[in-house]
Amino acid sequence: MASQSDIEMLDGGRLLPLAEDFYTVQGEGFHTGRAAYFIRLGGCDVGCVWCDAKYAWNPALFTPVPVENIVARIEACGARTAVITGGEPLLYPLDCLTRRLAERGIEVLLETSGSHPFSGRFDWVCLSPKRKRPPLDEAFGRADELKVVVEHPDDFEWAETNAARVGTGCRLSLQPEWSVAERIMPAVVEYVKAHPRWHISLQTHKYMNIP
Ligand code: SF4
Repeated sequence: MASQSDIEMLDGGRLLPLAEDFYTVQGEGFHTGRAAYFIRLGGCDVGCVWCDAKYAWNPALFTPVPVENIVARIEACGARTAVITGGEPLLYPLDCLTRRLAERGIEVLLETSGSHPFSGRFDWVCLSPKRKRPPLDEAFGRADELKVVVEHPDDFEWAETNAARVGTGCRLSLQPEWSVAERIMPAVVEYVKAHPRWHISLQTHKYMNIP
């Protein structure tokens, strides 16, 4: 979570450092293929080498904006589902944003590394654990989906370590890391065939050339 003074500056979450927001189609995970409005908050202290949102790491680059403005844009474009992502969105208090979305009947999905305390209410939590900053204990109980990025065959063991901690109904997804997807794909396919409780998540937005 951001420091107390940062949170005060954000008026308890009535303002959030927005890196970008746009209406698109969710490309990965359980909700692949569904129209969704992406709210990307700026700021992440995890530092994955293959991160495709490095431009969003430094929160100082993004002027905090009122959550009402974001919600108004979602309503204006007719989106019925919002994905809160980052960066690491749990750096910030999300109660205000998620409450405003719920009041308008908008479904709220979260993408998180789970490395900071939860705030806000979500219809779906996609937990994507990262070795550099593993999830907090509470994140495992909140996860509706566990989505593990696979860059190397060692990552299967990491995936199982995390899967052992989520609830029984949690959807398990393995996602080939994009820059090595071609090389790692056969191993991911074989792993899922041998361990059918796992699903493959592809970054289909990259094939569709959409954000
Ligand atoms: S946690 Fe997400 S936003 Fe942060 S560095 Fe890793 S992939 Fe990028």
